[in-house]
Amino acid sequence: MTKGSSEEIRKVDALIVGSGPAAAACAKRLVDAGYETVALERKALPRHKACSGILSPRGHRFLIENFGPLPKEILHTPSSAVGVTFHFPGMLSLSMNFDGGPTPHLHRKYADHWAMRRSGAEIHDLTEFTELQDKGAYVDVTAMKDERTVRYRARRVIGADGPGLSVVRSLYPDYAGQIPWFVVGQKFHAVIACPLDDRYFHFWFHPQLGHYTWSHARDGKQLVGVGFLKGENFDVRHQRVVQYLEHRHQVKLGPAESPEIVPANFGGSLINRYIFGKGNVLITGQAAGFFNMIAEGMSCALHSGAIAGEAAVESFRNPADVQRTYRAMIASEVRRCSDQWNPLEIAFGRPHEADFRGALNKLKVRERLSVLREILSFIKLYAPLNWGRQILRHSVYRQVLGRYDSARWL
Ligand SMILES: Cc1cc2nc3c(=O)[nH]c(=O)nc-3n(C[C@H](O)[C@H](O)[C@H](O)COP(=O)(O)OP(=O)(O)OC[C@H]3O[C@@H](n4cnc5c(N)ncnc54)[C@H](O)[C@@H]3O)c2cc1C
Repeated sequence: MTKGSSEEIRKVDALIVGSGPAAAACAKRLVDAGYETVALERKALPRHKACSGILSPRGHRFLIENFGPLPKEILHTPSSAVGVTFHFPGMLSLSMNFDGGPTPHLHRKYADHWAMRRSGAEIHDLTEFTELQDKGAYVDVTAMKDERTVRYRARRVIGADGPGLSVVRSLYPDYAGQIPWFVVGQKFHAVIACPLDDRYFHFWFHPQLGHYTWSHARDGKQLVGVGFLKGENFDVRHQRVVQYLEHRHQVKLGPAESPEIVPANFGGSLINRYIFGKGNVLITGQAAGFFNMIAEGMSCALHSGAIAGEAAVESFRNPADVQRTYRAMIASEVRRCSDQWNPLEIAFGRPHEADFRGALNKLKVRERLSVLREILSFIKLYAPLNWGRQILRHSVYRQVLGRYDSARWL
């Protein structure tokens, strides 16, 4: 409930909503270029973030190049991941090392706060964005802090608020109701016995387990996670995975801590349906639809966030339509991200930062065929979403024109 409001309006060049990787990267570009930048975070910082924390090599490079060497306080144990292991129902497993060596296992609570602080932006935590009005020359933003209304006026607003989509909702009130929503949840178990190699992130291509099923070691516990379409019961799905791990992989787990369950706007990058904003408002990171394969949303959040920041800087220096600038600049990140889901790129290119085809080629022909068959039957899980034809159409478009169709972006 609103207790009161302050009539004072804080004027800034750029207002960023969020304090995750996309926000930190965006803020870094704006602050480095000399623009006054404030980031709003609705939670108290450092804030918890449900995440496995496995970073891709490209994300790792971005952090070092932009924010400096990673302090050990921002890492879990094991402090790095060597790569990814895919498991299939026929009990074949494929381990792939990340290109260029192990990558950090980030403790998101501290890693995000570290990057955000190193960006040099002013951070207003416990401040929740509620609405905006784009007046053409500037954007008026309303937020809530301590049950009071606070006001900002910014030349550009960047929505880097992840799957909450609060900035998207204020631009496109119907959008969130039009996309499929997934539920992603994880529990941390005491370990009685776990033969899964703790240097790898483990993923199951198993249609009976879930749309997204994973496990890995963290801080002496074993994390078991499952993602599925909204509407089903998390505990039932999770228990099924725990039993499967016990029967098929001899993983014996003890009691779990309470689950972390979050909604996920997963799918935009598969079907090239990104959302980049309008007028003076840019959307970036997961809010825009960026999500890489192999459980990875941080590196594309960092890179897209940086591009949003660069587009804002460019529009300050050479007044032009910031949307046009952003959309031209973000095309490279769209290509990288959507290529990871593009069957033609996977078959003939090398879109991932771990060598899937190399690992596949080490198998006997019969095993290879069995893996491909099982991947195909896993993909059928997504059939009710009618993504298959869209993915194929965009894949062919990409092969012919060398890019994805920007007319699909909101
Ligand atoms: C269970 C799980 C496991 C995952 N594992 C991995 C992994 O291993 N590796 C990987 O790379 N990715 C992983 N991801 C994905 C990754 O966490 C996201 O893709 C990434 O955090 C997106 O970054 P972002 O900066 O776009 O948004 P976020 O990190 O979500 O940050 C958005 C911020 O905005 C704040 N916010 C939201 N609304 C408002 C508002 N109205 N006002 C003010 N602030 C607001 C939020 O509190 C949050 O701090 C995982 C995700 C989940 C759910």
